[in-house]
Amino acid sequence: MTPTRTDDSDVCRRCSQLGPTCCRIAIGQEDFCFPLSQMEKERIQEHVPYTGGFALSPNSPAFIKFACRLFPGEEDEVRALFPEGKEHFRLAVDSMGACRFLGPLGCEVPREVRPYFCRLYPLWMAGSEVIVFDSTTCLARRESRSLGQMYHALDTNRATVKDLYGRLRLVWGLPPAKGASRVNKGF
Ligand code: SF4
Ligand code: SF4
Repeated sequence: MTPTRTDDSDVCRRCSQLGPTCCRIAIGQEDFCFPLSQMEKERIQEHVPYTGGFALSPNSPAFIKFACRLFPGEEDEVRALFPEGKEHFRLAVDSMGACRFLGPLGCEVPREVRPYFCRLYPLWMAGSEVIVFDSTTCLARRESRSLGQMYHALDTNRATVKDLYGRLRLVWGLPPAKGASRVNKGF
């Protein structure tokens, strides 16, 4: 049976049938996995009681460089959050590079419980602009000729992207927007 995602957009369901999708990495590319905050990890554990879904990774120079590139102009803050010599959590992958939460029917984590990075991908914010990560494997990116088409394909919109990005920044330890004050916010 061909794997399909059950609560994702049509393009992500079709992408999961083609592979590799954004839920797999090449072996040896673990330094380029996004970090998982304690809040995101605990939220998944509440809904998907599954041991082995997370891995501790060193804050290697390659990982720190990757994290800094996500937040240009905030490199000092990012380095303070992920000091070299310490560790961070990320999603664990199997021997084929697939996220441990990727089941035969797609992601086993309900969409609203997934890490913010998963919910945003392939979209991101650069200042007040929504940008699209450069990806040759993302079917939504390959099929969309404009940001509007990308929103439509992924069943999202600018306000949602902005909100998720702000929440991600908060749980990772950054203020909700570059240069803003950190505030407590319920999730
Ligand atoms: S948590 Fe789900 S959406 Fe995120 S990488 Fe894993 S399988 Fe994919
Ligand atoms: S976000 Fe892109 S890479 Fe990820 S499953 Fe959807 S179409 Fe595929």
